[in-house]
Amino acid sequence: MKPLIDLIRPNIWNLAPYSTARDEYSGAIGIFLDANENPYNNGVNRYPDPHQIDLKNMLASIKNVSSSQLFIGNGSDEAIDIVYRIFCNPGKDNVVSIAPTYGMYKVAANINDIQFREVSIKNNNKDCFELDAEKLLEKTDENTKIIFLCSPNNPSGNNLSRTEINKLLCSFDGIVVIDEAYIDFSTAESYSRKLAKYPNLIILQTLSKAWGVAGIRIGLAFASEEIVYFMSKVKYPYNINVLTQDAALNILKQDNDIREMIKIIQRERDELAIRIKSFPFIEKVYASDSNFLLIKCFNPKKIYNFLLKKGIIVRDRSNVPGCESCLRISIGTPEENSTLIKTLLSYELLL
Ligand SMILES: *Cc1c(COP(=O)(O)O)cnc(C)c1O
Repeated sequence: MKPLIDLIRPNIWNLAPYSTARDEYSGAIGIFLDANENPYNNGVNRYPDPHQIDLKNMLASIKNVSSSQLFIGNGSDEAIDIVYRIFCNPGKDNVVSIAPTYGMYKVAANINDIQFREVSIKNNNKDCFELDAEKLLEKTDENTKIIFLCSPNNPSGNNLSRTEINKLLCSFDGIVVIDEAYIDFSTAESYSRKLAKYPNLIILQTLSKAWGVAGIRIGLAFASEEIVYFMSKVKYPYNINVLTQDAALNILKQDNDIREMIKIIQRERDELAIRIKSFPFIEKVYASDSNFLLIKCFNPKKIYNFLLKKGIIVRDRSNVPGCESCLRISIGTPEENSTLIKTLLSYELLL
């Protein structure tokens, strides 16, 4: 890895961040006349903790990282955007990623005027999705700051090869981001264990999927203390509001319930995969380490519209390069999944 000073944009390296009233005095009790707030208590009249100390401590213990290696964003989208903003000079630098993958990496690159270079992970000979580190490295040049990976990958559903990821972590001299939004549905170990080994690693996770709180917007990044320092310097001071911080603390206390829910979703996924595979209009169900299935159908638009008419909304991915003829189906409750199967049975009867 290059020294961080050669990777961080010079203006960000030199940035003096906004100093909040709570930065200048952080005690919990007293008469607070320092932030021009309304003094009458309604539960949200005070600014939130800009450093999210309670939430970070709780997350750090659940995720087994130090709170100084933890960044909390307004959804993963904020973390993705900030990673671009701290490392990539607009109009000059580029990033390399895989295709197909999560669409936000490209959108955030375009917003920041960063060239986005894609490498297909579709192996047409074996009809599966496989990371080839060598191909990504070939796409890099002296202006490549970041390699963006997603594992388990959306929309393919599978874990990327650890051997190939490790090759990238060892041989690329810039930053490697691994988005683990779906890691809790996988049996694979999080790369958060490898932070000490790879100083160029940034891991993204979220409370939107397994933790079931997409509505409150909490995205996480794990990285070296130095990288987290620069990410925190760039974020809006109060990026996580009071209601979200409170709700997140409450949900994190219920981690046993969450683990039970994840087991049900995993079991439903595996059963649904077998069941869907058995329909004659399904060509293939891709292996999934996540909470959705990518299915290749003989007539995706027709199936999509049929399901839609019956009130079941799935994601049509058939226009995405590498996902030709594919639909993506999230795993629902057991009742929802059995309605899906019944509806597909009625589709079969029409053929
Ligand atoms: C759903 C998803 C996220 C979550 O984004 P949030 O902004 O945290 O809700 C992140 N990455 C991938 C690949 C996803 O599919």
